[in-house]
Amino acid sequence: MKLEVDVLVIGAGPAGIFTALELSKHRSDLKILIVDKGNTIEKRRCPARETGVCRNCTPCSITSGWSGAGAFSDGKLSLSPAVGGRITEYMPPEKAQELIDYADSIYRGFGARDTVHGLDTRRVEEIQYEASRYNIQLIHSPVRHLGTELAAEVLRAMYEYLQNHTRTEFWELSEVIDILAEPEGIAGARIRRRGQDELIEVKARYVVVAPGRGGAGWLTEQTVALGIETENNEVDIGVRVEVPNSILDHLTKDLYEPKLVYYSDTFELKTRSFCVNPGGVVSEEHYDGGIAVVNGHSYADPAMKTSNTNFALLVSTRFTRPFNQPIEYGRYIARLANMLTGGGVMVQRLGDLLQGRRTDESRLRKSTTVPTLKSAVPGDLSYVLPERYLISLTETLRAFDNIAPGLYSRNTLLYGVEVKFYSSKVKVSNTFETAIPRLYAIGDGAGITRGLMQASTTGIVVARDLAEKA
Ligand SMILES: Cc1cc2nc3c(=O)[nH]c(=O)nc-3n(C[C@H](O)[C@H](O)[C@H](O)COP(=O)(O)OP(=O)(O)OC[C@H]3O[C@@H](n4cnc5c(N)ncnc54)[C@H](O)[C@@H]3O)c2cc1C
Repeated sequence: MKLEVDVLVIGAGPAGIFTALELSKHRSDLKILIVDKGNTIEKRRCPARETGVCRNCTPCSITSGWSGAGAFSDGKLSLSPAVGGRITEYMPPEKAQELIDYADSIYRGFGARDTVHGLDTRRVEEIQYEASRYNIQLIHSPVRHLGTELAAEVLRAMYEYLQNHTRTEFWELSEVIDILAEPEGIAGARIRRRGQDELIEVKARYVVVAPGRGGAGWLTEQTVALGIETENNEVDIGVRVEVPNSILDHLTKDLYEPKLVYYSDTFELKTRSFCVNPGGVVSEEHYDGGIAVVNGHSYADPAMKTSNTNFALLVSTRFTRPFNQPIEYGRYIARLANMLTGGGVMVQRLGDLLQGRRTDESRLRKSTTVPTLKSAVPGDLSYVLPERYLISLTETLRAFDNIAPGLYSRNTLLYGVEVKFYSSKVKVSNTFETAIPRLYAIGDGAGITRGLMQASTTGIVVARDLAEKA
């Protein structure tokens, strides 16, 4: 079966959605097809969020479907180009800020709340000053926090707008198997729709690939097949830390998300806090190949707040030649944790890790920090993480304890592993067009962004470029 559209967008995450929103604003005549291997938003249900038990759904509802990984995200919109990706490598910082402000206005137009955290510059400077005494750098970025329930609502409103007011069609449960190119440029893609044996060939004048972190491995395979250059990105590997709110309240109440950077004492590896969720819950997310990794989020509704705060603590490594499989490296480490837990996420008390012993059920019961991820299996992270990661993580927690006393405590919970599959950065122009004419690669999956806001801005840039050319 064959079909023709003007623009095919692969992936319905924020990058894909903003491509369609902006494009339909400038060129309402263009026929846009967005395909995603996951479900429409109302059909996205994560059993683990309701029962605490992950059922390894294919595709994973947390990472796939309308809104992409953004649907159940914490909905923190980072309002500075200093965090959430690398768009400033493609444009001057002022232009990046302009795009962020514009994307932010669209989020607000679709219902995002008005509150922005981190605007009290005097308080920010005080924390920066205090942190600098311990070699810790605080990266400042104001944050608009939607909360998990509102993030899904805002992205659902975008769906309704696109369906009702534009020429955008959405295909759920439709996986792109391969991208098709001809010598003069892009030609389309072959798609497998759930329940249909025959692949559908969609011809498109323009193709925008936005497959997110979950599709980063697939995109790398496609770039090899199409002869598009990629570059190793960092691999971010670490743990999710969970502590009582009392330990981080003084930082989160003003900043919401304290983004702290430290270079570890022994290996001088860059270690950073990321995705902080005050009163939040730790969650499990699944990637193709049955890999379970840890994440976290929080609800905006005060009734849904927990007594814990969680955040990712990640060590960044950029591998150099001849090694060129950073995604596989991250997957391998995640698989090790899954192997030891029988397929899920591992949890260990910091005290047990430092004493070189496993956390078992009885030790976990003695923990004054009660885990919010009930399905996590107590274990020993030293069997999973290479020494340089483990040492860098514990040294960083010890350093952070200076500005967040109580963090380096025996009852601090470490969940493993948290891996960010940013990996291969696709070589693109300043408008995110690849070497193949009319094929664009954007968002987290192209290794360009790492968060909702920057992923959204890449969609806007592509849409404006397309609007002029198409
Ligand atoms: C639990 C959680 C909490 C988070 N919290 C935050 C936060 O608070 N703030 C923040 O800025 N970021 C957060 N993030 C990250 C954020 O969600 C991502 O950075 C963002 O969604 C990336 O957007 P994207 O459009 O590039 O990709 P994604 O949102 O990952 O979307 C990609 C889509 O492509 C689809 N796809 C992949 N391959 C194919 C294929 N071959 N065929 C068809 N479809 C395909 C996938 O199913 C997916 O729906 C969180 C992520 C998670 C998982």
